[in-house]
Parts: sequence; C-alpha cells; structure tokens
Amino acid sequence: KGTSGIDYKAALNEEQYAAVTSPPGAALVIAGAGSGKTRTLTYRVAYLLDQGVDPKDILLLTFTNKASREMLERVKELVPQDLSTLWGGTFHSIGNRILRRHADEIGFTRSFSILDRDDQKSLMNTVVAECEIDTKTRRFPKADVLASMFSMMRNTGETLEEIIEIRYPYFEEWGEEIARVEQRYAEKKHEVNSMDFDDLLVLTLELLQKNEELRHLYQKRFRYVLVDEFQDTNHVQSALIELLVERHKSLMVVGDDAQSIYSWRGADMENILGFPDRFEGAKVFKIETNYRSVPEILDLSNSAIRANTRQFHKTLRSSREAGSAPPALVPVEDPTTQAQFVAQRILELRDEGVELEEMAVLYRAHHQSLEVQMELTNRGIPFQVTSGLRFFEQAHIKDVAAFIRLVVNRKDEVSFKRMALMLPGVGAKGADKLWAAWRKTGWGEMEKPPEKFSDKLLEFSVPKKAASHWEQLAYVLDELVNNGDFARPSEMIYSILEGIYDEVLQANFENYDNRRADVEQLMSYAETFDDIEEFLAQLSLMGSVDGEPTGKKEEIDPEQITLSSIHQAKGLEYKVVFVIWLTDGMFPNGRIIESGDEGQMEEERRLFYVAITRAKDELYLIYPQINPRSYTGDVIQRPSRFLEDCPDEMMEEWRVGGGGW
Ligand code: ATP
Ligand code: MG
Repeated sequence: KGTSGIDYKAALNEEQYAAVTSPPGAALVIAGAGSGKTRTLTYRVAYLLDQGVDPKDILLLTFTNKASREMLERVKELVPQDLSTLWGGTFHSIGNRILRRHADEIGFTRSFSILDRDDQKSLMNTVVAECEIDTKTRRFPKADVLASMFSMMRNTGETLEEIIEIRYPYFEEWGEEIARVEQRYAEKKHEVNSMDFDDLLVLTLELLQKNEELRHLYQKRFRYVLVDEFQDTNHVQSALIELLVERHKSLMVVGDDAQSIYSWRGADMENILGFPDRFEGAKVFKIETNYRSVPEILDLSNSAIRANTRQFHKTLRSSREAGSAPPALVPVEDPTTQAQFVAQRILELRDEGVELEEMAVLYRAHHQSLEVQMELTNRGIPFQVTSGLRFFEQAHIKDVAAFIRLVVNRKDEVSFKRMALMLPGVGAKGADKLWAAWRKTGWGEMEKPPEKFSDKLLEFSVPKKAASHWEQLAYVLDELVNNGDFARPSEMIYSILEGIYDEVLQANFENYDNRRADVEQLMSYAETFDDIEEFLAQLSLMGSVDGEPTGKKEEIDPEQITLSSIHQAKGLEYKVVFVIWLTDGMFPNGRIIESGDEGQMEEERRLFYVAITRAKDELYLIYPQINPRSYTGDVIQRPSRFLEDCPDEMMEEWRVGGGGW
C-alpha cells in the first residue's frame, strides 16, 4: 500500500498487481480483450504517484486524447493531486506539444498550421500543378492517393519505390514524377509553415535524433513511459518510444496482438511480438481473466479468433456469471429490416432499463450506418456517430478556422485560399492571384503586418462580385491581426462571424440555421481556451487520423446510443453491442476476399474480434439476406464467413420479420 491507502491487491488480480507494482524497467502486458490492460496502466500511474514520483516525470501515450483524459481522471480519484504537468495523449498530440516548443530548430515557426486530410489534399493539388506533370495522357494518382503513398512511406520506413512497387504497381510508370511531387510537397510544407499529421510524428523523431541537447532534455524528463494499445504502434512511433526511454529504460506497454487493426496505416504487430527481444530483461505479464464479458460472449470471441494462424494463442476465462442469453444471430431480410430491428430492440432494451449510452451499433465502414441513422432519426432515438465527418471536419467549421489560422500563420497558403474561395466570383485562378498578391506584401515574414494593412488589401484586384465581401474581409483581418495578441479565441470567432462569415454562410449553404448554430457552438467551445495556438492545435488534432471521438457537438448530451466504426470503438465497452452488415463482401470486405491475401483476411478477423469483445452483456450479430443496392450485383447475401467460424451452439438464432414487431 502507498501513502494514499489504495488497496491495490483488492482492485487487481495477481498478474495485474505484479505489473502495477513492478520495479522500473521494460515491461510488456500482453493479454486479450477486456482483461484489464487499460486498468493496469491506470493503476500503474496511480501507483507511481503514490510512490512519490513527480507527475512531470510520466508520459502516458494512448489511442485517443479522450482515453488519456479518462485515465487521468480515474487516477485523480485514486490519488488526488494536480496532474497538469503529466503529459498524456496520443502520439500526435505529444509530437505537437514538443514541436510547438522547438519548431524553429527544424525550419518552421512555432505557430505552424496543422494540415488535416482535406487541407493536405488541397496542398497536394497545388504541388502537382506546380510540378507541371503531363497528366493528360496517362492517369496520374489523385491527391489523396499520393497522400496515402507518402504517409505509408513515412510511417513504415519503406522507400517510396518499394511502396509503389508493392502497393501501387499500377502507378509504377509514374515513379519519377511521384518522387518529384513528394520532394516538392515536403518543401512546400516548409514554405507555408504547415505540417501534416505524419510530420507531427516524423519531425518530432527527427528533431530529437538530430538535436542532442533536446534529446537529453526529454530523455531525462520522462522517467516513466507508458503506452496503451501498443499493438497498433507503427515504425515511427516505436522508434520515438525507443529514443525517449534510452536513458531510464523504464517503459510499460500493454496490448493485444489479436486486436491489431491498423496495419493499413503502417502499424506493425511485430512491435509487440518482438518487444522482449528489443528490450533486454523485459518482464512479460499475461492476464488470462476477462472481466468485461459474460462467458457466452467470451467463448464466442475465443472461437472467432482461433482461425487466425499468425496469432499468439490465448484463452481467456470469464470472471463473470452466466448471462441471460447467448449471443443472438439475427438474419434479417434486407438493410431496412436490419435498421428496424436494431431500432426496435434498442427501444425494448431501454424499456427494460438499459441506458442508451450503454448501447452501441458497430460496423466495418461508415456508409453501412446510413439506414440505421435514418431509422433512429425517424423514431426519435438520440444517437451519436463516431465515424464519418466529425464536428470539426465540417466545411463551415473549417472555414472559420481558416481565418484564425491565417492570422496566426500568415504563410498558410491553404487557409488563405480557402478564405478567398468563400468569396463570390473567386475561383481557383482568382485565389491563386490573390495569394500571389498577399505573398508579395511580405507579411508572411514579418513579426506582424503594419497597422491598417487593410488599406493595402483594398488595392488587390478582386472580381467585381467579390468587392464588397473583400472589403469586409480586409477589415476583419485587420481587426484580428491587430488584436490577435490580446483577443481570446472565442472573441476572434465572434468577429469573424459578425464581420463576414454569417453572410458567407447564408450565401453558400442551404441549411444556414444549423450551420450558424454549429459556429456558435464552436464559439462556446473556444471559451475554454485562452491561447489561440492551443485552440487551433486542438481543432486540428480532433480531426486526427487517430480517430478522436471527442469534441463532437453530440458529446454534450450523453443520453444517446453510439454508432461507431469498429476501428473507433477500440478499447471501449458497452452493455449491449449490435454488429451489423455481417455478410461476406461487407465484412470481410469484398476486395479482400477477392485478393485472396491471407494476411489481410486475418486483419479482418481481428477486426471482428475487436467488435464482439466490446460487449459486456448482450451481443447481436446481424446480417441482411438481401441487399438490393449491392455494388457487385449479387442481391442475395451470404452470411459472413466469420459467423461460420463460430460454433452454432454458441449462438441463438433469432427469427425476426413478418411484421412481428
Ligand atoms: P481492451 O483490450 O478492449 O482494451 P482491456 O484489457 O484494456 O480491454 P479494460 O478496459 O482495462 O480491459 O477492462 C475491462 C473491464 O474489466 C473494465 O470495466 C475494467 O474496469 C474491468 N476490470 C479489469 N480488471 C479488473 C479487476 N481486477 N477487477 C474488477 N474489474 C476489472
Ligand atoms: Mg484497453
């Protein structure tokens, strides 16, 4: 027991206890879903603090920023104290934090912008245009394909040629041009003082590799590094961890190889499987009890994953008593009936006392949720969607952010052009011209543009249609720049909205009311920030590839059920889980079935395993037998092969339809 009086022995089982109280050093906790890995990590942090470790010595890396906040809240309940100096969050957010402090060491300023996928695409198009590649005769990869190639390259450490040859053989003849675009894209990001998500990892690593002084600073600081969901770390992330722990060699990672589902983003299961080899003397802890699911669900998940050959074999025992019913296998007629079944069952369960927030509908791909979304809307069942467009990725929210970003980083070409394109009569060419004029002023290089620079802006030549808007814009920018140091983020949004953006909203969008409400929502969210750069970083990171489910407007109301892609549901748990679209072709994905790639099929199976292991009490496995809108033209659907891996006696087939409900 530590000074706080926590009874660790009572809260943890033997293996968990051993891991939590182990001496500093390399430690791996490898165990199946729901076995308390995250709980172990949480108690480990509490234990360290209990032993008198300074919070600032701890670095906690998690799959989402929300997960880290929740873990730290739990820690605070256990060991009440101020944790503001403890660094916790995703790899991206920690990278951002380090880079904000030292960006000038690598040729950026500290107010660099963060490009999300959308911004990245737009910058990529600019770069491709600048490279003057003759794309008329043969098909050149599109901006998002290029972005994926470059991202893959940087996250795996493979060369661009290798990536193209193995994953994009179709574009091999463009190898030289693609390399040119890659190089220009990297330069361009410097010019516009902007980083993409990969930069947040790669440049952090490079910075620390090159700069000995900084490396020692952080190596000294982080005496304890802890990582959740370690099976999904990629090459760069693991290199970053290795670098950070070089001095104290105190690293605890937890993960489950059976839940590795991000290889398409460069995650490498080898990181977890090879951990004991890379860290000499590493302790390995295995937990074999599952605390989450009733035995019926656990047995099913044990059999579901068994068909994978490239998997550590583990069998979990349930600590819970038998549930009320076995997992339900639910064939339904078609997608509409599927949605009706889900909605109806949700209402019944709610009547039985299950709260909406305790239920989730999971699917492989976002578009598979549409019928369910419609049905829930029709029946007035509140829901939140954690896949698809997030609040901060919506066009009007990004519009507002573009103004602020430009004020903070006046080299930000992407934001400038986005702003210019909002004006009536300004197209891509017009935006280019305005950008050229803006660049000529040299304001990007200055500490601050001159006062009354709106006068100069008014001399720019703009299309007639845009003239009055341009004037408004000039005044708004002038105001923002000249108050920028003092204004709070929420006040800036207010100036933008009232100064110009409200009119843009009315002119450019149909559902003005909703969008205006969203911007107001953003304004109230912004009130929790004093610092504009921090606010912007937060906005960008929330749309991050990490799958950050926070910051959604819906999150304010917890009384709703969750619709989520399985990827986004990693690490979470719900009393009741519905997995929909369990047909061959939807899940596993048709393209993977056709490719015959066993490795990818195993990843699909792990995804199925992740889905069903989210459920605590009840699990519904649903498949439509007919899909009238099938892309392949196969109207009749086969149940997923993953269902066939599961012994019949472990599931109870439900017969629904015929208007019985
Ligand atoms: P996943 O692989 O899905 O991330 P996990 O291994 O991280 O799962 P947790 O989320 O930490 O598992 O734990 C699953 C559930 O079991 C949680 O509700 C947790 O509080 C509970 N739990 C874990 N260990 C114990 C324990 N020793 N006693 C009681 N409850 C526990
Ligand atoms: Mg977990």
